[in-house]
Amino acid sequence: MDSEVTTIVPHLIGGERVSPSGGRTGPVYNPALGRVVREVALGSAEDARKAVAASAEAFPEWSGRSLAQRVQVMFKFRELLIRHRDELVELICEEHGKVPEDARGSLTRGLEVVEFACGIPQMLKGEYSSQVAGGVDSFSQRQPLGVCVGITPFNFPAMVPLWMFPIAIACGNTFVLKPSEQVPSCPLRMAELMREAGLPEGVLNVVNGDKTTVEALLTAPEVQAVSFVGSTAVGEQIYRTATSHGKRVQALCGAKNHMLVMPDADMDQAADAVLGAAYGSAGERCMAVSVLVTVGDDTADALTERLLPRLDALKYGPAERQGCEMGPLISAKARDRVADCIASGVEQGATLLRDGREVPGDLANGFFIGPTLFDHVGTDMRIYREEIFGPVLSVVRAPDYATGLKLISDHEYGNGCAIFTRDGDAARDFCARVQIGMVGVNVPIPVPLAFHSFGGWKRSLFGDHAIHGPEGVRFYTRLKTVTARWPSGIRSGAVFNFKAGGEH
Ligand code: NAD
Repeated sequence: MDSEVTTIVPHLIGGERVSPSGGRTGPVYNPALGRVVREVALGSAEDARKAVAASAEAFPEWSGRSLAQRVQVMFKFRELLIRHRDELVELICEEHGKVPEDARGSLTRGLEVVEFACGIPQMLKGEYSSQVAGGVDSFSQRQPLGVCVGITPFNFPAMVPLWMFPIAIACGNTFVLKPSEQVPSCPLRMAELMREAGLPEGVLNVVNGDKTTVEALLTAPEVQAVSFVGSTAVGEQIYRTATSHGKRVQALCGAKNHMLVMPDADMDQAADAVLGAAYGSAGERCMAVSVLVTVGDDTADALTERLLPRLDALKYGPAERQGCEMGPLISAKARDRVADCIASGVEQGATLLRDGREVPGDLANGFFIGPTLFDHVGTDMRIYREEIFGPVLSVVRAPDYATGLKLISDHEYGNGCAIFTRDGDAARDFCARVQIGMVGVNVPIPVPLAFHSFGGWKRSLFGDHAIHGPEGVRFYTRLKTVTARWPSGIRSGAVFNFKAGGEH
């Protein structure tokens, strides 16, 4: 570890910055430099329990606040996120390695969720039926759950936490955020901005850490709901543990997103689209396109011919370097894993058209892999089956549309996919039949906006609810239905059976 590393990213519990009780810390890297820039607290089970206790204590007062008071905090928070945008972008670039434009874009997508949360009264209006029986009215309302937990991945330090806590808190819950230990500074800063926006102490707590910290959160009796975003192996385990402890869980997990290109598509448009979708953020996006399915060999040839010069012109490097379109991977481990996947593709017989394993000398200390392209990839190969989570695109040649549709639907992941075509009939059929949660038509990364909900199918999501938008509100609230009569004073005696015709 570098001797100049002095700062430790702490927890934020009950409005205070708190050091880890067990003294455990972990390194936080600048992945473009391959250097440790600070340490992060790794919370003990005791730290996790303290954060949960602070949230539980804050719940009665916060859930009792008026909608107008809760929403005022969200409006102020929105203003502060905009005012501190550059500072947050800098933290994202430093710890994640995203290039500034990409970091700014991801923060904006998170900001849109805060804007959705500003309108939460509209979502919580409930339903009312007058005179469901003689003198009886019925109404349904959505009430907050209590303490909710969010466990977030490294690849979106601002956006993914913002998918969760603004909606949970606007709905009247309190929240414990456990950010990725690889990118802890931006989430902690956002939690401080929530305090500055007027959020009472204890409503939003941040406990940094790893598996030990998470396990204590999943089993804490006060925790009602767990939102997780991360890898499938971890998400499935978290889903099992938390549901077996009676929690409501949404676990959004890994992906293998396909883009199907029909022979009638505009090939230049399709090549530009797949370039950004495959290599943006160095492929470290759960909606990155990692498989290009071409219908017919001519389509494959037309696309690879257009992709190669674009790949050769693609600039990658550290965030500070002007004009870079992609940065490094998050860690040496991630880089080595991606390199290993590339080696497996070669061994299993795919055609390696561009190899990103050799990087320029001035990037050698960082965790870089250059843009990599495979052609003639088979569906039995590791590079097709696994989520690579790096700048590696595989071209799979399908003889016809039906084969392409089937292989996309058969993949174990079901997060996103896209079709590129000028044929409305093919696009409509694709949307109706493909077994994937988020579908694009001539849109390579079909990420739903904040007022819709985001979520995949199959092994890309465990649980019943997608995240943010209306599904987020459903997840963070539960339904209560009241049936009420205000007696007129005329007594009719006891009733022992259900009555027909709506009479109670
Ligand atoms: P990860 O699963 O390694 O970590 C996610 C979170 O879980 C982190 O906070 C981490 O500290 C914690 N964690 C790690 N191991 C744990 C364990 N054994 N027990 C309990 N908690 C544990 O994921 P990552 O590498 O940070 O993120 C990349 C993954 O996230 C990719 O698979 C990507 O597809 C996925 N992702 C999915 C979505 C989506 O919406 N579906 C969005 C973003 C990222």
